Formats: sequence, C-alpha cells, structure tokens
Amino acid sequence: MNKKEVQGIYKEKLKLIKKYNKYYYDISKPIVSDSEYDKLKNNILLLEKKYDFLKSNNSPSRIVGHKPSKNFKKDLHRVPMLSLANAFTEKDLLNFEKKILNFLSENDKFVLTYSAEPKIDGISASLTYKNGNFERGLSRGDGREGEDITANLETIKDIPKKILNRDFPKNIDIRGEVFIKNSDFENLKEKFANPRNAASGSLRQKNSEDTKKIPLNFIAYTYGFEQNLMQKKQSDFLKKLNEWGFKTNPFNKTISGIKNLILNYNEVEQQRANLDFDIDGIVYKINDFELQKRLGYVANAPRWAVAHKFSSNKAISKILDIDIQIGRTGALTPVAKIKPINIGGVLVSNATLHNEDEINRKDIRIGDIVTVERAGDVIPHILSVDFNKRPKKSTKFFFPNKCPSCGSKTIKEFNKVTKKNDAVRRCSSEGYYCDKITIEKLKHFVSKEAFNIDGLGKKIIEEFWKLKLLKFPQDIFKLDYKKIEKLEGWGKLSVENLKYSVNQKKNISLERFIFALGIRHIGLENAKLLSKYFKSFEEFENLSKTKNYDDLLNIDGIGVTQITSIKSFFANTINLKVLDELSKILLINNFVATQKNGLLKNKSFLVTGKLNGISRAEVKSLIEENSGVTVTTVSNKLNYLITGDKPTKRKVEKAKELNIKLINQDDFLKMLNKTR
Ligand code: NAD
Repeated sequence: MNKKEVQGIYKEKLKLIKKYNKYYYDISKPIVSDSEYDKLKNNILLLEKKYDFLKSNNSPSRIVGHKPSKNFKKDLHRVPMLSLANAFTEKDLLNFEKKILNFLSENDKFVLTYSAEPKIDGISASLTYKNGNFERGLSRGDGREGEDITANLETIKDIPKKILNRDFPKNIDIRGEVFIKNSDFENLKEKFANPRNAASGSLRQKNSEDTKKIPLNFIAYTYGFEQNLMQKKQSDFLKKLNEWGFKTNPFNKTISGIKNLILNYNEVEQQRANLDFDIDGIVYKINDFELQKRLGYVANAPRWAVAHKFSSNKAISKILDIDIQIGRTGALTPVAKIKPINIGGVLVSNATLHNEDEINRKDIRIGDIVTVERAGDVIPHILSVDFNKRPKKSTKFFFPNKCPSCGSKTIKEFNKVTKKNDAVRRCSSEGYYCDKITIEKLKHFVSKEAFNIDGLGKKIIEEFWKLKLLKFPQDIFKLDYKKIEKLEGWGKLSVENLKYSVNQKKNISLERFIFALGIRHIGLENAKLLSKYFKSFEEFENLSKTKNYDDLLNIDGIGVTQITSIKSFFANTINLKVLDELSKILLINNFVATQKNGLLKNKSFLVTGKLNGISRAEVKSLIEENSGVTVTTVSNKLNYLITGDKPTKRKVEKAKELNIKLINQDDFLKMLNKTR
C-alpha cells in the first residue's frame, strides 16, 4: 500500500469512529457493539503505530467522548474531564505499574497503593459547588466543554443541593457517575440497549421534567477544580465524600500489588450479577494525590489511573430458570433465564442451552453460577458451570417428557439417514393441536420470505392469537377489522393499512405458498423445487389423494427426509382443511419457468438497504425468473446495485468506485416493465 492509500483507509476509519461516537455519546443509541467499537479503535491505534505519518486531532488516542449537543448550553470545564486507559490482562496491569515506576524513577521495591473502584457504567457529570451550594452541573462532553445539564441533575436525589460541613471546600467540582439501577432499567429496556444508554438518554433530555420521571442515581468518586481540599489521599477523599452527603461505591477498596488487584477483580466479577447496578470493570487510581500530580496526564487520560475492563464477550451470572420454547416444527429448545448481565454493552438475560443433550453433557441446573458467552452476532450461550459454587440442594434438570404447551408426549426421532436419535426433542402432536406450535406456524406464514405481510409482525400475531382473532392461516384473510380498530394502539388508518397489505398478498406464487405452509425440512429452496415439479396448486394438493410420494425422489435435491415430512403433512386432516380453505381465498400462481432469454439475461444484481413493500426474497425470485443472477458482494462481476433505505455505505462507495450502476427499486421494477 502506498502512503496515499494508507491515509485514505485511516481517514475512513476516523470517519466511522466519529459516527459511532455520535450515536453512543450524543444520541445514546449505539449502532455497533462495544467490542466492534473497540476493535475499530484498536485498528486505528495500530495504524498510527505502524505509519508514523498518520496523525490527527480526531484520533481516538486524543479525543474524549463527543462534542456537546446543540440541545444544551455548553460551558467549559474548569479542569478537563478525561477518559481512562484500559487494561484487560495481568500483563497490561504489570505494564501499567512498570510505566509508573519508570516515570517516578523508582524500582520495583517501591510499593504503589491503589484505590480500586468498581467502574459503574453510566455517564459522568461534574458538579460545581460554591460556598456549599450546588451551582452548576456539566456532562463530560468532549472533555474540554460539557453540556449544562444543571436542571436535570437537580432532579437527582443523591446529589446534595447544599452542603453545610465546615471542611467542605468553598469552591470545588465534585465528579461522579450518573446511572440507573438494573431493576429500574427493566421498565426502560424497550427503549434502550443497556442501563448506560438509558442513563445517558434520560439525563440529557431537553426538559428536566422528563428527567425527573426516571429514577437516576449518583455516585461520587473524584474532583475536578478545587480550592483548599485538605485530603492527601483518594481513600480519605472518598470517606469525606460520604461525610459531605454523597454516595460512594460500597465496593471501593485500597489495595497494593498487582496480584491483589487481580484477586479483588475476580471477586467483584463473581459478585457482578448480584449488584443492582451495571459495572464494566474496576478503576485503579494511585492513592496518593502527590504522586498523581507528579504523574500527570497523556493526551486524553491520566497517567495515574487505568480501567481494568471485564471481558466484552463473557460474563458470570446465575441461572434463574430454564424455559422450554417450542418452535413451529415442535422442537423443544431450552433457554436459560439468567440474572441480567451486561456483556459488551448488551444486557443479556437469556442464553440458549441448545438441546437436551447439551444440558446433560454440561450438567446445567437451575441455580448454577455460569459463564455466559456472547460473541459477535451469535446468540448468548452457557460456556461452563462453576461446580464449586453449586448450591447443595441443587437437583438435576430433567427435560420434560410432555409438551409444556399441549401435554403431548415429547419424543426424540430416529434419523434414518444418520441412524441415530435426534439431539432435539419434539412435541409429538400434529401441528395445529398444539397452541405454541400454531403460533409459531402463523408467524412463519406471514414472515418475509413467505407471505411477507406488512404490519403483521410476530408481536401482532401473538396479540391477535390471545384475542382469538386467529387460529389458522386462513383466518389472516378474514380478520375482524372492526374489532381490531377498537384495540389499544390501533386506529382507522393503521387498520386500513393492515387490510390493504393483507389483501395485496392474496396473490402469491406457488413456491412461496409451499414455503409458507412451514412443512418441516421444506425451506425456500425445496419449496422452489416442489413448485417446479408440481407446477400448480391443484397438482400439489392432489398429492394427498394420489399418494405418489415415492415419485418425489425423482426431484433432484429432495430426499427421504423431506418426503417423510411431506407425507406426514398430508396425512394430517387439519392441514388438508387449511389447504382447502386457503385455496378458496387465495390466487396461487402456477410455477413460472425461468426464462432462458429473460429481460435480465447476463445481468447481475445486489440489494443493499431496506426496500419498500417488496422483500429481498421477492426481488431475488424476480431476478431469477427473468434470467438474471444475484451476487453477494460488490465486485467487477456486479452490474446493478439496488439501493433501498439506509444502504450499506461501504457497498455504495465501492460500487461508485467500480462504476457500477446504482438503481432504486422503482428503476429495477421498470426494467421488468412492472410498477409497485
Ligand atoms: P471509559 O468507559 O473507558 O472510562 C472513563 C469513564 O469511566 C469516566 O468518564 C467515568 O464516566 C467512568 N467511571 C466510572 N467509575 C469511575 C471511577 N470510579 N473513577 C473514574 N471514572 C469512572 O470511557 P469512555 O472513553 O467514554 O468510553 C469508552 C468505552 O465506551 C469503551 O468501552 C467503548 O467500547 C465504549 N463505547 C462504545 C461505543 C459504541 O458505539 N458501542 C461508542 C463509544 C464508546
């Protein structure tokens, strides 16, 4: 790579991190996980280390937080409010201490004492007190300038408004963390990803009356500007804060030696799930203020402190219960309900246990203390059980032998292909007899790749089910709109919209229809193969009479597993009734053979962003029906990038670079002489 290319990449990364910062600090709605953010930050720092010509005032090694929002008056901090350096391993801590000793020109006999303070994951605030009166409160902002949030801070009970103690400095900034308790976050979790974002969003509201409604807390831990502060040590200062009426963290400790810091870290990490506030690590500060002064600061953090972070993809918690979820094919999936714990910025309260075998293999029980892992987009799962912490009275977890929803026997099927019992246990009832299976079937029926009915998502299906507005797929097309209009959250317009989208989807291709039925082992691709084979709905339905199941073996791609499943689908009389009812309501289009010389011949497409009223699956099948191809990446092989709402920027930029045509969904439909 030449210099210009490196600079280009560096600039792009800085732009991206600026965007992430805005969403995290300003809007309080992060768009990436903390680990993804940290990875990008690390990438930038590595680039700077490797290429010394890369320098910027916007580098994450120099900046703090984000510039103050325009919603507030801003004001300068009398002493900057900085960030903290991070440490993750024992080696990082040893390095941190070594650097300090070097700076102080001391050898390793010199004992450094630290104030070890759990790092509450909230947002910091600086409170100015003059003559004992709380006068002004600022958020951290970009460290130099903060937002004046005095009125909002005044609503917090933990913040003393007047301090009468004679030894309280006449002029001082007290700094600490504003946070929300996990138990209070329960009521806000629909709006925010984690308690930190909830605290930040609530504290930085334009109207302090709105802030007042949220139970915010404040814990004090440091000072900014000060006059006549008498304490010489952080531990003494923390004690004084209590005397002056501030809350401090009950888990604060004074510790020497890295080994002891780690012992304390492990202990606190074990306690973490039991605390009613979120912590993301422990802050170690040199206890002696004189030494702190000598050590001073680097660009955006003090040299005398470090945050020893908890892992961003693992955490310890407790299993409160084991829930059995039932899928549309009757599969019973165990889910551990755990004490909510923040893993990399996401509050995790459920972890998959996969299946019965996994529970037995790991001997997972209710009440166990476990390590939970959440890496990337993977669903959180239980990594291991701490058997030493297992309660004496704990009992083995037995998987239910009756379906928790309908009471039918649960079975493990014998797989004829692998000649083994399935790992998954299933409800043995036939589809619509079991309520839970039915609900899941309905959700599948309206899902994107099936009927794709706008405005009829999973939650609404559940609501309508509870209200007995639906039971079978055909009921979707006979909804009682008058009744719906009277429901909370519904109005004339939303009901009209729903009616419109339901009616619009009465016209459907055979392959989507077959897929929507949710026959086990019949995914989109198999549904396509079946629709190509049967050509019409009538032929497909006729299978229940001809019973020519073995003929299906002639279809390349359909095997014994799928045929067994199709057979049991047609053996069920309710399914036949559903098919019959649906055929009276719907227009199920015959299979359309892919045109060899279609309108999109030799043309390739890729979709990015959200489309309107047409799903990606439908676009894909339109492309294929018209002899075009779809590709998965932007490269020289791509002819058209179809862009919807909020397209992936990288894809758009790369397409422009490669001179690829950018079109929207209307342009695309026009290519097929269609409109929508
Ligand atoms: P930080 O979390 O690294 O540390 C500094 C903060 O710690 C202080 O401002 C203070 O608020 C807090 N703190 C808590 N207890 C303290 C104590 N006892 N003493 C001193 N400070 C204490 O701060 P940062 O630089 O704002 O944030 C970096 C973190 O935020 C990273 O973990 C990063 O992953 C995350 N982040 C995520 C995104 C995202 O989009 N997901 C974006 C930006 C930042």
